[in-house]
Amino acid sequence: MPPALPFWKTTALADMSQAQWESLCDGCGRCCLHKLIYEEAEQLCHTNVACRLLDLNSCQCSKYSQRRKHVPDCVSLTPVALREINWLPPTCAYRRLEEGRDLAWWHPLVSGSPDTVHEAGISVRGRAVSERQAGPLDHHIVDWPGREPRVRRPAKPVAATRQTKEAKP
Ligand code: SF4
Ligand code: SF4
Repeated sequence: MPPALPFWKTTALADMSQAQWESLCDGCGRCCLHKLIYEEAEQLCHTNVACRLLDLNSCQCSKYSQRRKHVPDCVSLTPVALREINWLPPTCAYRRLEEGRDLAWWHPLVSGSPDTVHEAGISVRGRAVSERQAGPLDHHIVDWPGREPRVRRPAKPVAATRQTKEAKP
């Protein structure tokens, strides 16, 4: 019997359980970076400035369950909100599934490891600055949060065959 397909291939976003929905987040932290909107030019610019609650190493929200108390404008992603938000990074698992794409190899649900999102250079680790230190946002405009880097899956190590030679008598 072929292996069962994973839930994100068989279940519509709107029909997922809370646990399935939450598990789709790859932990990249890109959505926790501030954006600037220049209304006259109708232009959205990404910055590398992170919300003050973002742990810049783990790329996780340090107060996730109470985040709305501390950051009232933190956006809660829902299947409906997903259709209206235009700033999610192209790497975001929710956006990918909404667009009919699959999860990438570095997604923890695919790789089985929470580290691959960092190893593949998708997360903000090592390239974001906290809003506590950043100063003016327009000094921090960058384009990488809106780009999807092409990152190859590392080749699996091939098990070496141990070869022994018998000494000739
Ligand atoms: S951009 Fe998407 S996948 Fe990355 S942390 Fe935000 S919600 Fe999760
Ligand atoms: S409150 Fe937490 S989840 Fe919301 S933007 Fe800040 S770090 Fe991200």
